[in-house]
Amino acid sequence: MAIATINPATGETLKTFEPLSEHEVDERLVLAAAEFETYRATDFKQRAAWMQSAAGLLESEQEQVARLMTTEMGKTLVSARAEVAKCVKGMRYYAEHAEEFLADEPADAPAVGARRAYARYQPLGPVLAVMPWNFPLWQAVRFAAPALMAGNVGLLKHASNVPQTALYLGELFARAGFPHGCFQTLLIGSGQVEAVLRDQRVVAATLTGSEPAGRSVASIAGGEVKKTVLELGGSDPYIVMPSADLDGAVATAVTARVQNNGQSCIAAKRFIVHAEVYDDFADRFVARMEALRVGDPEEESTDVGPLATRQGRDDVEKIVADAAGRGARVLCGGWSPDRPGWFYQPTVVADITPEMRLFSEEVFGPVASLYRVGDIDEALALANITSFGLGSNAWTTDVVEQERFISDLEAGMVFINGMVVSYPELPFGGVKNSGYGRELSAHGIREFCNLKTVWIG
Ligand code: NDP
Repeated sequence: MAIATINPATGETLKTFEPLSEHEVDERLVLAAAEFETYRATDFKQRAAWMQSAAGLLESEQEQVARLMTTEMGKTLVSARAEVAKCVKGMRYYAEHAEEFLADEPADAPAVGARRAYARYQPLGPVLAVMPWNFPLWQAVRFAAPALMAGNVGLLKHASNVPQTALYLGELFARAGFPHGCFQTLLIGSGQVEAVLRDQRVVAATLTGSEPAGRSVASIAGGEVKKTVLELGGSDPYIVMPSADLDGAVATAVTARVQNNGQSCIAAKRFIVHAEVYDDFADRFVARMEALRVGDPEEESTDVGPLATRQGRDDVEKIVADAAGRGARVLCGGWSPDRPGWFYQPTVVADITPEMRLFSEEVFGPVASLYRVGDIDEALALANITSFGLGSNAWTTDVVEQERFISDLEAGMVFINGMVVSYPELPFGGVKNSGYGRELSAHGIREFCNLKTVWIG
């Protein structure tokens, strides 16, 4: 894919970029490795001051950055502003908590015959982050804030369709006072990732994106014995049981499905509803999905903007057509508005069977799959049937059922009577083909650290 800003609301190419040459990449790796040697010795107070300064700058530039994201990948301006605010919060969170999260952990010294024994977290070095376009700022900040606070240096290979957001972020940390080379954006295509990953100066990698990209990065890194964290796709279940607050469940279901124009790894994608409330839920859910306003993402009143790429919209069209062709019922939507840009109407599909792609694949657009189940066992079996295991949602006021979902849903995250959201305070990540490792919270900052055992006799 060419490195370019193409407005998804119009299809217009606004700016193109040349990928870095091999020599230019090497220069940046030299700088990253050299910078790490001094940056790793800075203290938490100093790093926190730079991070707070970056948060302040970002906050003051909220509108400009939000508009840039909307232009590059089509998210509504309202949600882009919220994304910037979330990044500011995430930066401040790590500025305030990194020292406590990475404090020495005392061990039982007498038990190991020592006068003192403890574990110390130390930074690893330059870490490569391969990031996707769907939350162009947040996905990168979710990596950068803890990485920098831990004393690592960052190399960002962002998605090729959000180059200006990527460049903004690289400059933001430098403008905030972080030493030159602490955080660099590499404008490179995905074909250039392998060389960077194999380079001895790069010590680890994190990737958020599709399963094929994750498999490729993890296998190369595995060959080099370098640690990876992977956050891949999801096909999160959203289960509604008879005791649920149906108004809340319906309203939240719509948000959970169409957030970010339907392009979120943690969007609820499969709505699994108990037969007792299925018809009621389906009627209300479809009515709300139909009422959503699709249009210009810069308009304040727009609920759903375009999909980020033509390819993304084509994929969504094909997956719905495949289901309809095999006998699924399209309850609303199922078509692309006749206008420039890559819009797709919010869609609800029912009567889905296992041979349809919709049953097992992640759909990255505003398309909800609806399933009817007879009891909690059936709900759990269907929820767990996919190869993914990122987030999960369950609506029930019955505490026994709540415990059952918490215990038996095969997912990295379970949200009861709500929807999966990432918070700096909570670990974020998945199981199965959704990846491994955790981002955010204390767990996220420790992923790229050397946990050094110290024994003093
Ligand atoms: P990709 O996984 O292709 O892109 C994500 C990032 O990985 C980009 O920076 C991309 O670079 C890079 N990349 C792609 N292939 C490789 C590779 N073989 N080696 C190294 N880096 C690679 O996502 P797409 O944008 O193509 O979206 C396709 C699907 O991925 C979506 O439909 C969705 O299912 C899933 N996805 C999941 C996301 C999530 O949040 N978990 C986010 C985005 C997508 P480049 O842009 O240069 O190709």
